[in-house]
Order: sequence, then structure tokens, then C-alpha cells
Amino acid sequence: MKIELHEIAVKDVYDGYHDFGADNGVVGYDGKLNIRPRYQRNFVYNLDQSKAVMNSVLHGFPLNVMYWVVNDEDSYEVLDGQQRTLSVMQFLDHKYPIELNGQTMYVDSLPNDVYDQLMNYKFMVYWCQGTDSEKLDWFRTVNIAGEKLTDQELRNIAYTGPWLSDAKKYFSKRNCAAKKLSDPYAKGDPNRQELLELSLKWIADNKDTTINDYMAQHKSDADANALWQYFQHVIHWVQELFPDVYKQMKGQQWGLYYNQYHTDKDDENYNSSSMSKEIKQLMDDPEVTSKRGIWLYELAKGAGEPNAIKNLSLRTFDRRDAKRKYDDQTDKAKDDGVSNCPYCAKEGLDTIWKLSEMQADHIVPWSRGGKTEYDNLQMLCKKHNESKGNR
Ligand SMILES: [Zn+2]
Repeated sequence: MKIELHEIAVKDVYDGYHDFGADNGVVGYDGKLNIRPRYQRNFVYNLDQSKAVMNSVLHGFPLNVMYWVVNDEDSYEVLDGQQRTLSVMQFLDHKYPIELNGQTMYVDSLPNDVYDQLMNYKFMVYWCQGTDSEKLDWFRTVNIAGEKLTDQELRNIAYTGPWLSDAKKYFSKRNCAAKKLSDPYAKGDPNRQELLELSLKWIADNKDTTINDYMAQHKSDADANALWQYFQHVIHWVQELFPDVYKQMKGQQWGLYYNQYHTDKDDENYNSSSMSKEIKQLMDDPEVTSKRGIWLYELAKGAGEPNAIKNLSLRTFDRRDAKRKYDDQTDKAKDDGVSNCPYCAKEGLDTIWKLSEMQADHIVPWSRGGKTEYDNLQMLCKKHNESKGNR
């Protein structure tokens, strides 16, 4: 990474300055500097801030350093310092007046010496030049002090190219195709590149790589069709397996589920109509405390995972009930001269377990309609509770 400090006169930045309007950017420095790159949020015109910048400049006070990215010899973009640069450029462009010596003045009424001083004022600018990944690290560091960009906005600066331009068509506008398709299932603001980031997170997981490496590998691809197709596969898969839409489905990591559970045996493992009925029951079941876990439960169960049920976070007995039941069982066991674990007692043992050695168990399990109620509670020794759970 090469980083050089340059002093650049206002007159040089103003040379070739042109504002092409809200969507088309602003250039300066002989047309070589992109002052408002697309990834920057639109300049929020704040007259007081702009006047404060001009006040510093006209007094010859230093502004904070700025950062320009050097793309190549004739192409730069402002990474940090957009607002300060535009404040000065807009004043020079006759967009607003300032107060000077008690008078309101536009640029054309400035005294000559003040005008010359303004044009010769030097911006302190760091030029940074390097590989994409070096730039990305650098942007992250600069971003701490500058205008806040999201992680994906930063990646987009580093990995520009035809692939990214094409990906943005699908993922990066308010009404983009990806947003329309995935809205009931995916969260994220396309404008802030969050939907693009989500799709990249999912496909990177699918390819066993990282978002950065995926972007680095594909940045020169002619288009982002592979990403867009993959994203559609994920959402269509969800729609086929789970045709009923619930609000708890939004924001789940469907792509990661797809990567893990989608196989060519989906039609054997999953029956969407019976899952649909079961999901409705689970939604209504007060024993299921994690409604958002229901879909992952269905997927894990269909794949034959023995601990699929953990996704439901079923209700558990509270400590107070467990202690009360322990005392009841233990008193009775001591009277009868048997173990306070009913399973141990059946085996003829007379061990009296401590409370800390026992676990609360549903006599009738949840899968057969058992509720988390005191009457359905028994305390078992760990060994028996675990072996019961495995059956
Ligand atoms: Zn036991």
C-alpha cells in the first residue's frame, strides 16, 4: 500500500469542476477526480456546515486531512472529505453566500486578495494506492473517522468491475428484483448493499469461501448471473418446501439452510403439505418457545437429525418445581428404602441422589403431547434421564 500526502490547491480541484446532477456525480481536478462516487451517500446540503468550512478556509485554518483513492494515473475518487470539498466547490460555483466583515457575499463580490487566498488554499490530501485487499483494509481504517459506510459498501469500493455492476442491477436498488422476490424471507436494505451482502454470505458459504474472496475471484466476470441464479434457487426452494408465509420467516438465514439441507432427495425427505400442517400446530403450541426455530426443526427432522428438536426450545421445568418434586420423591424414597430416582428404584437400587445429580424430565414427552406441568414432572438421575432422551 502506497500512501502519500499531497497539498492540493483549491484552484486545482475547482479546475474542471462540474456537477452532473444527483444521479450522475460530481467531478473536479481537471475532470480526473470523482468527488461524489456512487457508493457515497448523497451529499446532504447543510448550509451551516458549508459556511463553517468556508470560514476555516478563508481564515487559512487547516481542515482535517482528506483521502483520495488513486485508481490509475488519471482517475481519483474522494474516499473521505466529500462534504468539505463540495462546500468549497459550491461556494465557488455561486451556490450560496457567506458573511465576511459583516457583509453577505457571493464569490463574485469577494475582494481580489481574499479570492486569491481562497484559490490558493491547500487541501491536505492522502493519496492511497494499492491492491484491492490493501485498499479495503485502508478504507476500513479511514471509515472509522469518516462517513460511515457499511461493510459491503466498502467491499464494493475495492472490488469494482463488470461483475459488480451487474450484481447491483439485481440486488442494490430499492425495488430491485432480489428485493421483490425475497421480501417475505430476507432482511436488508438494498440501498445500503445489505441484500447484496446477504446473497454473497450465502453463496460464499456454499462455495466454502469468504465474501471477500468470492468478490475477488469474480470481479472481472462479465456478469453476476451465477449469484443471481443461486439466490433465486434458494428462495424458490423455500417457497416450494414452505408455501405458507409467516412473519417469523423473515430474516432467517435461508441460504445457509439451503446449503446444508438441499439435496436431490428433497422430495423424499420433505413433504410440504404435511410440514405445512405441522408448522401450523407448532405455531399454536405454547410448549414451543422458539417459533423462529420451527423451519430449521422441520429441515433437520427431514434430514434425520436426532437432535432436531432443540431448534424449538421447548419449555422446561423451572428450578422451584424441580426442587419441590425432588423433595417429594426423596422423602418418599427414604420411607420406602429405595432410590429417589424411580428408574434406579426399579432396578432395585437404593441410591439417594443429590438434587444437583438429578434432572427434570417430562413423564409423557412433548412428542406424545406431554405438557410442562408439575403433574408431568419427574426427577431422574442423569444416567437415566439421558438414556430416556436417547430412546
Ligand atoms: Zn436412575
